[in-house]
Formats: sequence, structure tokens, C-alpha cells
Amino acid sequence: MNKKTDDRDDRPFLFWCYTYLMKRIQDLISVEKIEELASRSNFRYGKEIAKNGEIEILDRNAFNIVARVKDGGKQARIAELRSTTKGLRWKCTCSNRKDLFCQHIAAVGIKFSPDYLSETISD
Ligand SMILES: [Zn+2]
Repeated sequence: MNKKTDDRDDRPFLFWCYTYLMKRIQDLISVEKIEELASRSNFRYGKEIAKNGEIEILDRNAFNIVARVKDGGKQARIAELRSTTKGLRWKCTCSNRKDLFCQHIAAVGIKFSPDYLSETISD
């Protein structure tokens, strides 16, 4: 009986998220979009990390990706990309500047972009 109430309560929230304000993270990121958000060097470096670095997913759902990014011998960073009601938001442990789209965020964004994934598969 309780279970039934829970199901009924959950559905409108998810429905609201999917249909109205929040897009799935997959719909917000693309290689092109990352290139737009990151500086030229951070984009290039991020692409390199996506290809050759270690990116370990710590948490992932339809609206959120949190990953540990390790580039060779450098210190590992935790980068996060999330879909909010205001669009794409990001943060990384390498900087306190909240608007900075660093190479770690670029790497995670590129790695999980739908177009990058299909490009890798077709290689
Ligand atoms: Zn970073």
C-alpha cells in the first residue's frame, strides 16, 4: 500500500523533469558545444584526456555526471557536469572559479558526448 503511494508520488516529478525544464545531460552536451564553452587550449587538452587519460565515473544519472579525471602523472580531479533548470552547469576541483570550463570538465563532456561516442564506435 505504501509502495503504491510512492510510485504515484515519484512519477509527476520525473515527468516534469523530462518534459519541461530539465533536459537530459546527453541532450545538452556535444563535442561542438564543449568546443564552444571551453577555451581553445582547454578543449584541445580535454580531447587529449578523453582519448588517453583515465576517466572514472563516480556517479551518473540522466541529469548528472561526476567523474574522476586523471591525466598521466598529474593529480586526479573531480569534474562534474549537470543539467539544471537553467541549463548546463559544471564544476571541477582544480579551480574555484565557477565559470571556468577547464580541461577536466571538457574531457568528461567530450567523452560522454553522444557524437563522440558514435565517432569512437565507428573507428
Ligand atoms: Zn579541472
